Amino acid sequence: MKKVLILGSTGSIGINTLNVIRSFPGEFEITALTINTKIDLLEPQIHEFNPKAVVVKDEKLGRELEKRVGGKCKVLVGEQGLVEAAKNLDYDIFVGAMVGFCGLAPALEAIKRGKIIALANKETLVVAGELVTNLCRKHNAKLLPIDSEHSAIFQCLEGEEKSKVEKIILTASGGPFLNKSKEALADVTVKEALNHPNWKMGDKITIDSASMMNKGLEIIEARWLFGIEKDRIDVLIHPQSIVHSMVQFVDGSIKAQLGLPDMKLPIQYALTYPERMKNNFKRISLPKIGNLTFLEPDFEKFECLKLAYNALDAGGTATCILNAANEIAVEKFLKGLIKFSNIPKLIYKALEKIENHKAPDVQAIFECDKETREFVLGLN
Ligand code: MG
Repeated sequence: MKKVLILGSTGSIGINTLNVIRSFPGEFEITALTINTKIDLLEPQIHEFNPKAVVVKDEKLGRELEKRVGGKCKVLVGEQGLVEAAKNLDYDIFVGAMVGFCGLAPALEAIKRGKIIALANKETLVVAGELVTNLCRKHNAKLLPIDSEHSAIFQCLEGEEKSKVEKIILTASGGPFLNKSKEALADVTVKEALNHPNWKMGDKITIDSASMMNKGLEIIEARWLFGIEKDRIDVLIHPQSIVHSMVQFVDGSIKAQLGLPDMKLPIQYALTYPERMKNNFKRISLPKIGNLTFLEPDFEKFECLKLAYNALDAGGTATCILNAANEIAVEKFLKGLIKFSNIPKLIYKALEKIENHKAPDVQAIFECDKETREFVLGLN
């Protein structure tokens, strides 16, 4: 049985990972589950999957859970608990399913132990892509994508030589505001932004999809995951979210991976890789879908997409600044403190203001993240 550690088990990816694991009895064993705050959701997971340990990032809630579950499993708390779990527990696969920068520190521990890293937490590669991929090579850790686009590319690349890749084509749904004018974007509400047409996800990534920053972060993720420079990574709007991404080869041939907008498939592929296992998930009906359409993204309207390309171009800690500024800007938007159209403006200001460190080490990345957060918190 493969032993699995899931970071973020009560979020959308974590829940789907447990759904996949539940559908393959006898294949996987849960070593540990970690969460931020949702102890009411974690409690039944503990009873069903019997992890050896759990981590609750919120210390008070962690103590509360400890009382409830008694001696059933070890309860660790705080950010330090996340790192300890990744560093000390016995597992084969690290599933990074939490949102944001906080995924980096535990992922680094798993990499240093040469584990399989099944990564949904794209921020890890956005903020420290070069460092993370170098460290993976050094410690023989294997990075496997869970992000649906990157899983699609990864599957298209199977059996191919990397030198024969002409470009990667990331598809994007375009989000809820695909057909809104740039002017109209200024007044969209939180509720409208959270209403994604195809995917059901957590709040942060749903807002990122609406601003298309999600695709921006995915360009950076693809850059490091597949070792391909940004000029050979294209974005195409594909409103149906059926073609999850494509790879174009030097002979002009394009391979695509298709599927329903359901994260269970990319999660399963990462968990069972290199095996492809039979499942009973819903199958796609192409006649029912009828049309698959594609169009160019509008970089003027979706400024976040342009900011992401620029940050990748600038290198160093620019992508860390981009990410930290975006995390704070999205939080502010969700709290009703800023307009939707101010998200790219805050990120732009942070990129202008915060100094870019070339070839940063881990400490420089953590400092840059902190400095950027403080700066953007003070903006409005
Ligand atoms: Mg994605």
